[in-house]
Amino acid sequence: MQVKEDFEIKNLTTFKIGGKVKKLYLPESIEEFTGLLREIDNYMVLGSCSDVLFSSNGYSGNVILTTEMKNFEIKGTKIYADCGVKDPLISQKAGEASLSGFEFLIGLPGTIGGAVYMNAGAHGQCVADVLSSCCLFDKETKEVVFKQKDEMEFSYRHSVLHDGRYIMLSAEFDLKKLPREEIKELMDRNLTFRKTVQPSLKEPNAGSVFKNPDNDSAGRLLDKAGVKNFDMPNVKVWQKHANFIVNKGNATSEDVLELMVKMFQAVKDTYTIELKPEVIFIGDKTKKEEELCNILYQKTQK
Ligand SMILES: Cc1cc2nc3c(=O)[nH]c(=O)nc-3n(C[C@H](O)[C@H](O)[C@H](O)COP(=O)(O)OP(=O)(O)OC[C@H]3O[C@@H](n4cnc5c(N)ncnc54)[C@H](O)[C@@H]3O)c2cc1C
Repeated sequence: MQVKEDFEIKNLTTFKIGGKVKKLYLPESIEEFTGLLREIDNYMVLGSCSDVLFSSNGYSGNVILTTEMKNFEIKGTKIYADCGVKDPLISQKAGEASLSGFEFLIGLPGTIGGAVYMNAGAHGQCVADVLSSCCLFDKETKEVVFKQKDEMEFSYRHSVLHDGRYIMLSAEFDLKKLPREEIKELMDRNLTFRKTVQPSLKEPNAGSVFKNPDNDSAGRLLDKAGVKNFDMPNVKVWQKHANFIVNKGNATSEDVLELMVKMFQAVKDTYTIELKPEVIFIGDKTKKEEELCNILYQKTQK
C-alpha cells in the first residue's frame, strides 16, 4: 500500500482546506486495511473527505484513506460494496442492473463508508432504507464483526459509527427491481435539481454546513436570518442556498469556523434555535479554533 509522510491533505478534500498529516495510508484491500487497523494507533479513517473541515494546522496523527478499496459485487437484488467505493459509481452500476434505491447517491461526492457513517440521504432516500448488514472492525477487540441494519442505530445523519468504536469495512444492500429507464430518469432529475440548490465542486465546499433541526430546514432558517450576504475575505455563504460555505481560494479552517459561528449566531439570535453542524471538524486546533469549536460543536461530535 502507498504510505505518504508529512502529506498535505488539502487537495484531497472537497473544501480544499487542510494541513499536513503525519502519515497517510492508502490500503488497497480489506485485508490490508484490517491488518493496518490492528497494527497502528492514533489514526483517523476518511473516504473522499467531502463532509469534513480539515484543520489547516494539520493532524499530528495518521490518516487512513479508504478510496483505494473499490471492490463491489451485484448479485440479484443484493449489492456488496467495500467502504471506499464511490457513491456516484455504485449508483450508476445499480441503475445499469435495474436496481432502485441508490438514485440519491448519484450526486454525492463521497464513499460508501462516509455515506454509512452519516446515514447520508437526499431526495427522500437514505442509506438506512437499503442497507441490510455491515462488516465492521471493532477497535476495542480488534476483531471483525457483523451488524444487521437494526443494530446500526440509524437516525437522521447518524449511525453507530459515530461513537468511534467501529470502522466500516464493507456493507451489503438490498435494492428493488425497477425498469432501467425509470431509474435513469430519477437520477437525471436528482442531478438537475442539485445544480439549482448546491454549489458544484468548482466552488470548494463540504456540502450542507448545518443539519436540519426537527421539523425545519437549516437552509430556510439561515436564509431568513439573513446570512446569504455574509461574505468574508476568504470564505462566503453561497448566494443560492444559505446552508453552504464556499472557499474563495485561500481559506483556512479558522476562516470557515468563524463564518460558521456567525451563521450559528444569526439563527440563534433570530429564532433561539442552536443549529448543529453537519460538517465534521478534523485535526489539531489553534486556541482560537478550540473556542470556535466549543461554540459550534458543544458535545455533539466525537
Ligand atoms: C457538494 C456536496 C453535496 C453533498 N450532498 C449531500 C447530500 O445531499 N446528502 C448527504 O447526506 N451528504 C451530502 N454531502 C456530504 C458528503 O458527500 C456525504 O455525507 C458523503 O457520504 C461523505 O462521504 P466521504 O467519503 O466523503 O466521507 P468523509 O468526509 O471522508 O468522512 C466523513 C465521516 O465519515 C467517517 N468515515 C468515512 N469512512 C469511514 C469508514 N469506512 N468507517 C468509519 N467511518 C468512516 C469519517 O471518519 C468522518 O467522520 C455533500 C457534500 C458535498 C461536497
